[in-house]
Amino acid sequence: MKSDIIDLYVSTVKNKMKIFAIVNQKGGVGKTTTAVNLSAALTELGKRVLLIDLDPQANTTSGLGMEAQQGMSLYPVLISEKAIEDQIQRTPYADLDIITSEIDLAGVEIELAALESPIHRVKETLEPMRSNESYDYAIIDCPPSVGILMTSALVAADGLIIPVQCEFYAMEGVTKIMDLVSKMEALNPSLSICGVIMTMYDARTRISQQVVADVREYLGNMVFETVIPRSVRISEAPSFGEPITKYDQWGIGSRNYRALAEEFVQRLEGVQAEA
Ligand code: ATP
Ligand code: MG
Repeated sequence: MKSDIIDLYVSTVKNKMKIFAIVNQKGGVGKTTTAVNLSAALTELGKRVLLIDLDPQANTTSGLGMEAQQGMSLYPVLISEKAIEDQIQRTPYADLDIITSEIDLAGVEIELAALESPIHRVKETLEPMRSNESYDYAIIDCPPSVGILMTSALVAADGLIIPVQCEFYAMEGVTKIMDLVSKMEALNPSLSICGVIMTMYDARTRISQQVVADVREYLGNMVFETVIPRSVRISEAPSFGEPITKYDQWGIGSRNYRALAEEFVQRLEGVQAEA
């Protein structure tokens, strides 16, 4: 299994815009929450982010106060009816643009299955964006099901961010996602894991502490130092259509998502400085 940040750098340095997929086949572990809040925190560091909601549930879309409008997702691009540039929308937040989701995205699995190489479609559609200098990062929020959408994102990505919830069954999920990532290496040899982020950490419970210790023992420094705490404010923010960095600017959730953004950039640019 590849976890080498050097590899990630080498594979991405020739591309201007780096593509990251937020994945875990386990539902409800904090993928969408991390997609929205990490993206917002990255913009505070001066990064320009294109957030892509690839989940028909459209939670990233609504979490940023955007509407899931028919025809305004990656779907028409995947079936070659529209150009990707036409699907990009501004969010209310500076330097944060979005390709929203829509319910029709669920049906794309069937339509893509008819193509010769469906698993490469997301990669092909994002290719023209790589040379576009408008963004530093594209961040893809993936659905939990291991279907064409999710696996195509793994083929398109330079790096993966894997949220893992601090709960009893965490290790089981970690093993499964690592297996899936290894299997994907044949289709995307330059795929690297940028980091595993432990979410919904509750310092008062032994189980949270134990799970973080176990995952760190298994994956070592692949796990981000930053841990995202369980916080009511984090769970409330999407109903106001705001990232936590806006909804509760100085709260613990904001602090930790900002720390994650800094660590994420350091992991990428630290390697760049050494190279
Ligand atoms: P799915 O697999 O369905 O796409 P997901 O992995 O994207 O789910 P989220 O939607 O981000 O998971 O989170 C699941 C639920 O947990 C949401 O209600 C969210 O508000 C809540 N949640 C996520 N992170 C936190 C946190 N740090 N503290 C409190 N609640 C959280
Ligand atoms: Mg989600």
